[in-house]
Amino acid sequence: MKPPTPTVLAAPDTPAPARSRTLRGQAASPGTALGEVVLLDDAIDDARFTPVEQRFASLAEALAAAAQQLEGIRNSLDPCDPARGMVDFQIEFLADPALLESADNPSSDLPAEEEVWRPIIEAHIADFDTAEDEYFRHRASDLRDIRDRVLRVLRRTRAPTIPALGDHAVVFAHDLSPSRFLSAAWKPTQALVLRGGSPHAHIALLARARALPMVVAVGAAPVGPGERALVDGAAGTVELNPEPERVQMLMQAQQQQTLQKALEAEKLYLPATTATGEVVSVMINVASLSELDQVNPACCDGIGLVRTELLFAQGVPSEEEQLHFYRQLLLWAEGRPVVVRTLDAGGDKPVPGLGMPQETNPFLGVRGLRLCLREPEVFRSQLRALLRAAAEGDLRIMLPMLTSAAELTAAREHLEACAQALRKAGTRHRTPPLGVMVEVPALALALESLGPIDFASVGSNDLLQYTMAAARDLPEVAPLADPQHPGFQRLMHILTESARAAAIPLSICGDLAGQPVHIPALLRQGLRSLSVPVATIGLTKLAVAAWPLRAPHG
Ligand code: PEP
Ligand code: MG
Repeated sequence: MKPPTPTVLAAPDTPAPARSRTLRGQAASPGTALGEVVLLDDAIDDARFTPVEQRFASLAEALAAAAQQLEGIRNSLDPCDPARGMVDFQIEFLADPALLESADNPSSDLPAEEEVWRPIIEAHIADFDTAEDEYFRHRASDLRDIRDRVLRVLRRTRAPTIPALGDHAVVFAHDLSPSRFLSAAWKPTQALVLRGGSPHAHIALLARARALPMVVAVGAAPVGPGERALVDGAAGTVELNPEPERVQMLMQAQQQQTLQKALEAEKLYLPATTATGEVVSVMINVASLSELDQVNPACCDGIGLVRTELLFAQGVPSEEEQLHFYRQLLLWAEGRPVVVRTLDAGGDKPVPGLGMPQETNPFLGVRGLRLCLREPEVFRSQLRALLRAAAEGDLRIMLPMLTSAAELTAAREHLEACAQALRKAGTRHRTPPLGVMVEVPALALALESLGPIDFASVGSNDLLQYTMAAARDLPEVAPLADPQHPGFQRLMHILTESARAAAIPLSICGDLAGQPVHIPALLRQGLRSLSVPVATIGLTKLAVAAWPLRAPHG
């Protein structure tokens, strides 16, 4: 028996001259790195078979052994590492008893198990590859990874690994399986460049989680080992043998970035406080569970806006499906508040299956709460799911696109009717706080006209477009939508003053809240609760900490 072939650095694709040239691919993970090219081979392993007596007694046993290897990998990962989700998926896949149902009785002839295994797993890979849902298509590479792991178990060959890399290695490979990627302890000073691959593949997610600059789909241009490479993961470029001035420029940009990241990281898990010590709540905006995969809830004060339109993207979901989604959010939040916005369909967010009228100006038409009030069944199924989920955590309901007190009364009546029906049926539920989004200028000018309300949140994306008469989806009029315009500032002043006078807790969840240049003005207006995109939590906390000392518009 020949020993398994160890993974080695491959021979160079083609020796390349040390001349400057740029490979353009796709950005997969931001960051810059300068280092020496290391070429990885792509042979997954050596396919020699071992004698019969060393083989597993059955394919099921080989699957169990592969799952055991994966358990080992899983246990070595940091609890916040998104790779855990991938490895869990693989373990569950292997443990599914249905997996071997289609298998014929393996004969004892070599290599029978492999012949049984291949068609089974290839059929699953083909299903995932052609799935309509992008999520499943991206998981196909995880299945290829399982296929190869089981084959190696059957063949008793070792998993291909990545050899020890220098601190500034720029690794080139055709593609890389997630398992192989996980065999290296990557550093942000290194970089990964794939000839093929996709920025949506799992390994790109893993690279991002490790702050490892990564570029994919650079093509087959010849590259030699030891060439100097400057990788810009955000631009999706790899400069080979770059000119010294380029190196200096990019390295300076990198130092700046590193400093900024370090400052953000330092603030990330601390409460946001102004320079004068006032605490500001920083929450996050989300539209799907996958956005939370990489986020530790301890870095924010909860979820200030759950956009529920994605949940309706394939049509109206069942009450149970909705309940599951809200529960998952509450579980993630670990007791922190979760503000769920009821369906904001219409305008720029059409939902299939909801009969929306043909409108000449959909932004001013039947959208948000207006549409829900016309579709009471859809609205009530969402309210029932929210009432039930609210029994399990600090869930709050927020109504979008509210204009008048009459709409609020109508929405409240629906909520009360749903609560009563649940009570009658003996279904566990809780009536949570009810708040509104301030997106319509008339409401911003007269918030107190609503009467008692538990909270309000400024939807500045819409409030700005309506105030400035500049559609948010038209780049031609974007310069007019200036939040520093005195008219918008005055509107915000009136709103914040009336919220204060009526003791209505007011926060902001529009995009302005996550833009450092506008944060001083928001704080000056008295806002102390900001809900921002996940990617800007650190930046937002930094901008809060600088106020009122350095305030561009403050
Ligand atoms: C807003 O209008 O500011 C808002 C947060 O809602 P959306 O962007 O989803 O319309
Ligand atoms: Mg809006």
